[in-house]
Amino acid sequence: MRVAIVGSGPSGFYAAEALLQSEHTTEVDILERLPVPYGLVRYGVAPDHPRLKDVADTYAAIARHPRFSFIGNASFGKDFTLKELADCYHAVIFATGAATDRKLGIPGEDIQGSHAATSFVGWYNGHPDYRDLEFDLSGESAVIIGQGNVAIDVCRILAKSTDELRKTDIASHALDALADSRIREIHLIGRRGPVQARFTTKELRELGQLSECDPFVDPDNLLLSETCKSELSDVREPARARNFEIFRTFASRRQEKPKCCRVHFFLSPREARGEHRLEELVLERTRLAGAAGRQEAVGTGKTVSIKTGLMIRSVGYSGLPLEGVPFDEKLGTVPNKDGRATMTSSNGFPVYVTGWIKRGPTGIIGTNRADSMATVATLLADLPNFNSQPRPGREASVSLLAQRSVRSVSFHDWETIDQAEKARGLPLGKPREKFTRISEMLAASST
Ligand code: NAP
Repeated sequence: MRVAIVGSGPSGFYAAEALLQSEHTTEVDILERLPVPYGLVRYGVAPDHPRLKDVADTYAAIARHPRFSFIGNASFGKDFTLKELADCYHAVIFATGAATDRKLGIPGEDIQGSHAATSFVGWYNGHPDYRDLEFDLSGESAVIIGQGNVAIDVCRILAKSTDELRKTDIASHALDALADSRIREIHLIGRRGPVQARFTTKELRELGQLSECDPFVDPDNLLLSETCKSELSDVREPARARNFEIFRTFASRRQEKPKCCRVHFFLSPREARGEHRLEELVLERTRLAGAAGRQEAVGTGKTVSIKTGLMIRSVGYSGLPLEGVPFDEKLGTVPNKDGRATMTSSNGFPVYVTGWIKRGPTGIIGTNRADSMATVATLLADLPNFNSQPRPGREASVSLLAQRSVRSVSFHDWETIDQAEKARGLPLGKPREKFTRISEMLAASST
């Protein structure tokens, strides 16, 4: 059996692992849009969290399996189609993640100075799609909308000193820009309360341990309703109580460090204002309504505003539609049953999904392992229905790409790029200096 996986992030590699470990002799090809593998591990994980990137060693071990191939620099929908995958493979698993941002849907959202977290994270991580963006760090304040782990990553990167970031794998263009940053006050805005914030405890605690930045919470925001108290004591969600204790410590801090991070609750963005670029963000005070565990933010009609020239919207990611595959615009995912895409017409070609494109942008890297194992279990259960005609697999897809003048990148090529990046990082004391342009990656792969 020959299976293609589209996307080389965590869920793609875990799907490959599950297939290769199954009792069926399967050849697995991962096709990846970029010349480099690992998706969110390379381009999503914050540069100051290097341990989280160690999981790439596990993926490299999977990639060295004799029945595995990496085909990089091959973009689905541009360089090859679903029909062509059907000609080359017995099945496909899409593991394309959630590459774009969710919208706030407020006036002025796209004004200059307002950016999606996907862009900012991609920029500091050296993603080729975002490397030429510019972020105005010349003002004293920045606003981050959302209270999840991505928001906290963005906050840390703005709050840390250049010295703290210098030895990470942060892209040099970002380090240079951050070195000139004048941002001193960072507002981290949640539309609900401290009990509903989505930070994990480790990340929240780290916010209180930064060398240049003190976090603050208004003590009034920690006065809880009876419904919030019952959410706080829910034993199934122990992180809530742990986080709340951390917020308490933030409420009693005094500013001693040059920067501060104000964690606001019960504020929902309503309008981004400015003549030509962002000058002010208007927010509406909210209250919570609904039953415990399902409380939502409801506007009170009272507004406040924050003067700022930089807003990062970190309100979740969304998947992108895949040509020929159904897509749920609202959820940003591919409709599926246990990982099998609910296709109306694929001429019998079995299509599966895993990871964020399957279940939405939730969970940590490890969550994708169980998710991909579940999708592969569905695929293997479907095996008796597969067309058993031989499929040419890798040879055919690589030659198809070559016919289209697409220079595909093998795993060995990636290892050459990897070594070159590590060598570039060495004199700077960095684990690597990433290539941030596709042309540079391709040039490095052939040296
Ligand atoms: P997230 O955890 O879902 O947080 C999204 C935040 O945006 C929530 O606070 C949400 O508030 C808020 N939000 C959504 N729509 C909004 C709106 N219209 N107006 C105002 N606020 C809005 O998403 P994420 O931070 O993007 O993270 C995605 C996943 O990656 C998470 O599972 C996260 O844990 C994981 N991750 C993990 C790490 C790590 O382990 N170090 C690092 C980064 C990301 P409501 O709760 O009110 O909806």
